[in-house]
Amino acid sequence: AKNALIKINYTKLFINNEFVDSLSKKTFPVINPVDGQAIANVAEAQKEDVDLAVAAAKKAFARKSPWRNLDASDRGKLLNKFADLLDRDTKELAELETLNSGKPLAAVIGELEVYTKILRYYGGYCDKIHGNTIPIDGNGFCLTRKEPVGVVAQIIPWNYPIGMAIWKLGPALCSGCTLILKPAEQTPLTALALAALTKEAEFPDGVVNVLPGYGPITGEALCLHNDVRKVAFTGSTDIGHKILEYSAKSNLKRVSLELGGKSPLVIFDDADIDEAVEIAHNAIFENHGQNCCAGSRTFVQAAIYDEFVKKAVEKAKARKVGDPFEAGVLQGPQIDQPSVDKILRIVEDSKQQGARLETGGARIGDKGFFVQPTVFSGVSDKMSCAVNEIFGPVQTILKFDTIEEVIERANNTAYGLAGGVITKNINNALVFANAVEAGSVWINCYDYITAQTPFGGVKKSGFGKDLGADSLDDYLETKTINIMLP
Ligand code: ADP
Repeated sequence: AKNALIKINYTKLFINNEFVDSLSKKTFPVINPVDGQAIANVAEAQKEDVDLAVAAAKKAFARKSPWRNLDASDRGKLLNKFADLLDRDTKELAELETLNSGKPLAAVIGELEVYTKILRYYGGYCDKIHGNTIPIDGNGFCLTRKEPVGVVAQIIPWNYPIGMAIWKLGPALCSGCTLILKPAEQTPLTALALAALTKEAEFPDGVVNVLPGYGPITGEALCLHNDVRKVAFTGSTDIGHKILEYSAKSNLKRVSLELGGKSPLVIFDDADIDEAVEIAHNAIFENHGQNCCAGSRTFVQAAIYDEFVKKAVEKAKARKVGDPFEAGVLQGPQIDQPSVDKILRIVEDSKQQGARLETGGARIGDKGFFVQPTVFSGVSDKMSCAVNEIFGPVQTILKFDTIEEVIERANNTAYGLAGGVITKNINNALVFANAVEAGSVWINCYDYITAQTPFGGVKKSGFGKDLGADSLDDYLETKTINIMLP
């Protein structure tokens, strides 16, 4: 019955405001991670479909097109209309997301409230984008204009399928770009449902296009296309390297990359332990650990280490895993078999290296992709679970003594997406926030992300921002106009 959520249009490509088959008629299966069974066959975009979508987006961006002629405030109205429709369809969208991704339904419904706010934030920003007037030498002056970069390709992962789409669509549409969104091959359904809403909101033809397909085929063709002016990518660091290569090999298109992480969450011994256990638990277990900014290295100060571990283990054991549609379930399946394999491999390696497995560490059942909530203590910095991005429900608890030591260890990673600190000592909190090499820092909270706050990494976590006004910089070019008076 749940499969009835999948309307026929959600199995097509979305090009120029129409749902169409791929020219080759090729399709690929979409899997329900609860049982590993196929729930739909979705059109797979090949290079020739990419060419069509890019041509539509290019035409929509052409000088004097309906989209380019629109007043900024009217662009804002379209984004707000899109937000209204997202509100209206929350239930169906959330159910479809849960069906395709295995994310608990209650969590998705909560997420959607935030996504609506993101669209409204960018809707309100459309008519507030402007340049400067700058004095110059001589009898004249300079104007700068903020112009949309043009056709943008947006390539997103499967961990927050609706969320990542909204994070990308918001600033691109706010700036006046046109776009081709490529959802992850695991989770194309809700991206297509969102496409239907943009059509209903009456975005002009070709402004929004959605191309399901595989990374090395659809994604690569988008990244190499000479009419695409920018790629906004969220995904793994390995593919991030490739995206930059594609740009170098083609037209030097602009690139923004939001990549992996191995983020430290530091808990000082003056913290309220129960509160710290709760924040640290959610920081890693939220979305089954499938979160680029997950607090995946929990550093706990020596004096409270043993008590913290004991309570963290109790909490992990109490976590309800099961059918993501069922009320009270906090953890559904991981996204796919390769994910499960990777998690279990890191667990095994870490055990071999001497980490202490406090709970979990195994797959649940033989159907679908469920993994037990897992906690390691006695972890040292070189162990696999302390180094590698696990992207699974595995808490890794390390012990530290001093603030100087923990800053150095926290930064001793190739990544730099996020970090957190829990303490009542504001000096320690600020010293850590200042020193940590990360794009976002949370003090006495974790994973707190809103429409207004820019999000993005440093080091191998990438560059460029999602959310906030800062994200618009990635979608705007500054044009300098120098004027000499007679
Ligand atoms: P994950 O490990 O989270 O699946 P990936 O980086 O593999 O992350 O995938 C994120 C997104 O990047 C997906 O939409 C995927 O299809 C896309 N992708 C994967 N490989 C490539 C590639 N070679 N070129 C362009 N996009 C790709």
